[in-house]
Amino acid sequence: MPYNGLALDRGRRSDADWLAAALDAGQILAYWQDKCLVAGGRPVRLPTTDREVVFLGAAETAVFAADLSDLDADTAVAQAGAEAAVDIRVLFPQLDRQEAATLAYARGMLHWTRNQRFCGACGGRTAAEQAGHVRRCADCGKLHFPRIAPAVIMLVESPDRERCLLARHRGARDYSTLAGFVEIGESLEDAVRRELHEEAGVRVSEVSYQASQAWPFPSGLMVGFRARADTEDVAVDHDELAEAHWFTRDEVRAQGGTRHDSIESYLVETWLGER
Ligand SMILES: [Zn+2]
Repeated sequence: MPYNGLALDRGRRSDADWLAAALDAGQILAYWQDKCLVAGGRPVRLPTTDREVVFLGAAETAVFAADLSDLDADTAVAQAGAEAAVDIRVLFPQLDRQEAATLAYARGMLHWTRNQRFCGACGGRTAAEQAGHVRRCADCGKLHFPRIAPAVIMLVESPDRERCLLARHRGARDYSTLAGFVEIGESLEDAVRRELHEEAGVRVSEVSYQASQAWPFPSGLMVGFRARADTEDVAVDHDELAEAHWFTRDEVRAQGGTRHDSIESYLVETWLGER
């Protein structure tokens, strides 16, 4: 699964002496506004920086990330010795598994850091601790930890398991599986049932976990499910969806099969592989 399986050891983030030495010998990835700074299609590594960095972890060398978002785009690119700022999902086809996981994780950590500069409780300024993995409010002392927003994504089968439900979102060209954020007070399975009922008017009883995917775009965790509809009734809520229909496996294959870097491909391909 893309973006999963990060092999960096995140231990030692409270070992200040080790971190200082590791920063001198390590790699510093550079970002601007959630985009990776690249040269020749490869992420640049800053030789050094005066900026606050986030320690991502260590493999052969320690890996850090720095955010140049306070600069304008051209200045950030020039200062990093880069050629462009590029979204990781655009770079994805050129990345190996570990690179993709590392770059996505860095993007998520820097996004959180940039959005947690102030305390949500008192409005005070926060400062990094634990090599950037915790931020403490200078005024009230409240600790802020990186937030993850779980979302469910589901492949819904017809009652006879011969067709699956795919929907086209308003403004979108392609059909996709349904997905939605988990709300406060819900289990993951509750969220699957609610989303399907709210958006597509589909009632499901069987809901089973399939797999999960790190999705730091900016702070997601995608949790994949298979659900089985009680009936083939569909009643689309046109706020979010333009249409939703049942498709046979042959019809899904004819649409082009595997889609992209998301867990959706895994859910669809697994289902297609069962016949
Ligand atoms: Zn505070």
